[in-house]
Amino acid sequence: MEIAPGMVVTSKKPHPCGSREWLLLRVGADVKLRCVVCGREVWTTRVKFEKMIKGIKE
Ligand SMILES: [Zn+2]
Repeated sequence: MEIAPGMVVTSKKPHPCGSREWLLLRVGADVKLRCVVCGREVWTTRVKFEKMIKGIKE
């Protein structure tokens, strides 16, 4: 999956706030995401990220 900062991705499971959309902030061995609705920022590993993501929102 080709990903870059600034892309919005959708996750398989919704965040507790109800949103499935995440803005990519940092991409590398670890990935930093910001929930589009509540603004919560989380770090995850690239492997976990690829498992939790359903697709890229155009
Ligand atoms: Zn949220």
